[in-house]
Amino acid sequence: MMKQLTRRFVYMPADGSVDRPILGAIIGEERTLFLDAGNSLRHAAAFREAVRNEYPARPSLTALTHWHWDHSFGAAYDRSSLLVATELTYQALQPLVGLDWSDEALDERVRQGSEIAFCADYIKKEYAGMERDIRVVLPDITFTDTLTLHLGAVSCQIEQIGGVHAEDSCIMYTPEEQILFLGDVLGPAIYDGPRYYAARNFLRIVEKIKAYPADWYIESHHRPVTADEFWQDINEYCTLAELVVEFNSNKPAIEREWSKRIGRELADGDREAIDQFLLGERRLYQS
Ligand SMILES: [Zn+2]
Repeated sequence: MMKQLTRRFVYMPADGSVDRPILGAIIGEERTLFLDAGNSLRHAAAFREAVRNEYPARPSLTALTHWHWDHSFGAAYDRSSLLVATELTYQALQPLVGLDWSDEALDERVRQGSEIAFCADYIKKEYAGMERDIRVVLPDITFTDTLTLHLGAVSCQIEQIGGVHAEDSCIMYTPEEQILFLGDVLGPAIYDGPRYYAARNFLRIVEKIKAYPADWYIESHHRPVTADEFWQDINEYCTLAELVVEFNSNKPAIEREWSKRIGRELADGDREAIDQFLLGERRLYQS
């Protein structure tokens, strides 16, 4: 359940079957910092108990990468762990406090358009056969732009990056361990009809990420990857994003040129990525 990535960084892997993102913990001499709270009390408990067994007797803090339910609903598990998030995250969570999370209420919100079926379905899966014990708690400490937390022999620099996935998205950098925890900052827009990426936005985010050189990169719904693996992947996407801008959404030209520049035939996933970037152009610039 709990895996050690570096000396002072442990994590619990993602579980796509119930949309559980990776949970991380930076183990300082003075404090533990939990990265994201998890999608339920059970999710939070599974990871936190494992961490506390291994590293007892340290007070903790919890920092959220962004407001989405799968990252935040576990925060009610341990209110003695001060919850740190951006002001935007606070504002996004505030309307969720006190909502009814029953199937009927979720379905109604999906009908009205204030919730999306993707999240409602996974909430039902995560809480299948369980009490729907959801209590949204608000951050205790908020910040704008950047915040550094000093944990004793190790630190964490948080920067709000935003993007189409969530405008409050943060990345969390631990220089001493050379780990960059990315949350969902590179993810597509999900609350706005079919998923899409935004080319210029994607390139801007990648430039921000380059300011934090790391050995390990962690995207919440993937797995920790080495710098080589991460940049191989991201550079291909950057090439695509540049071509989408350069060729002004001319799909055949983009397909031809991208395949040439990355030196391989395009797979189904690549074609899907092209469609998602092109949809982003239509959504953001032609509406
Ligand atoms: Zn998210």
